[in-house]
Amino acid sequence: MKPISILGSTGSIGTQTLDVVRKTKDSLHIKALTAGTNFRLMERQAREFQPELVVMMDENAARQLKISLADTGIKISWGIEGLIEAAVIPETDTVVTAVSGRIGLEPTLAALKQGKNIALANKETLVAAGELVMRTAAETNAEIIPVDSEHSAIFQCLNGKREEAANITLTASGGPFLNWTREELRQATAEKALKHPNWKMGAKITIDSATMMNKGLEVIEAHWLFGFSYEEIKVLIHPQSIVHSFVEFNDASILAQMGEPDMRHPIQYALSYPQRWTSAYSRLNLAGKTLTFSEPDHKMFPFLEFAYTCGKKGGTLPAVMNAANEVCVHAFLKNRIKYFDLFNLVEKVCLEHQAQKADQLAVILDTDLWARERSEELICNMIK
Ligand code: NDP
Ligand code: MG
Repeated sequence: MKPISILGSTGSIGTQTLDVVRKTKDSLHIKALTAGTNFRLMERQAREFQPELVVMMDENAARQLKISLADTGIKISWGIEGLIEAAVIPETDTVVTAVSGRIGLEPTLAALKQGKNIALANKETLVAAGELVMRTAAETNAEIIPVDSEHSAIFQCLNGKREEAANITLTASGGPFLNWTREELRQATAEKALKHPNWKMGAKITIDSATMMNKGLEVIEAHWLFGFSYEEIKVLIHPQSIVHSFVEFNDASILAQMGEPDMRHPIQYALSYPQRWTSAYSRLNLAGKTLTFSEPDHKMFPFLEFAYTCGKKGGTLPAVMNAANEVCVHAFLKNRIKYFDLFNLVEKVCLEHQAQKADQLAVILDTDLWARERSEELICNMIK
């Protein structure tokens, strides 16, 4: 049995990972689970999977859980220290990073330092600190296996032959606002964005998917994971979400990975790798399916090109873009700002920033904090 821990077990990726654990019984064993505030779901998960350690980011939620799990002997911790404790718990082979946002950075680094493999869903960590994360993994020979469906596809197509690959194409569903007019986008609300056509995901990534910032984050994620230059990473809109991404090799041959749009496939692959376990989930039937591919509309979805620009400039700029985006997305979710404000605010914060080298954790965390405070200040000024 492979021992694993899940950071963010109550979320969309976290609950689907636990479903994979259930379906592949005797293959995976849970050592630690973490969540933010949802102690009720955590109690059920802890009783079912019997981890050694459960962590709530929120201290009050941890206190509630201590009472409700008093009969179990499960250790309960809280805060960022607790998250790090869960990431480095002895004997764990793989840590599934399924928290949303940059909060995943310190636990990910702590796990990598101990040589633990990462099944990486938490793309914001790689966007904010790609150089540092990849260097830390290289130092301890830890593997980072992507969970994100596009990156899982690229990982599978490359199959260790990175030097034979010329370029990659990430596919994008286009999100819930694909083909909307500028006027419609101006009126777009969080409620409408949360109706994603193909994937059921957490609120933050659903908004990112609606603005195409998600694809921008994924371009930067792909740059760090596979070492392609930004010129070698392309994006195509593929509304059916069946071709998860593809690689063009030096001999002009293209290998694509396909499957049902169900995150449990790439999650299971990240946990079974280098093996392939039999899937309990629905299989793709291509008969009668039409697959279409088109160029993204950069005018309607300016975040994608903007992310390329920030990625190319590098240093601390992607960390600023990510932090500003996190704050603005939360403001959009609360209907404090509108669709085009998201872009204008993130761009403004990035333009104010003097990029520095991003090879030290302290520099990245300071920059992240500055970008969050500045974004919040701009939002407050705007809605005054
Ligand atoms: P969710 O919002 O559904 O879940 C987030 C998880 O993290 C929950 O367990 C939540 O706990 C916990 N959490 C939230 N805030 C904090 C915090 N401040 N500190 C500690 N824990 C916290 O997100 P998703 O599962 O959708 O996404 C997780 C990551 O995976 C993201 O980086 C996303 O980009 C990536 N991803 C997601 C995909 C998807 O299909 N959902 C696809 C590809 C990548 P609580 O429930 O208590 O709030
Ligand atoms: Mg993805």
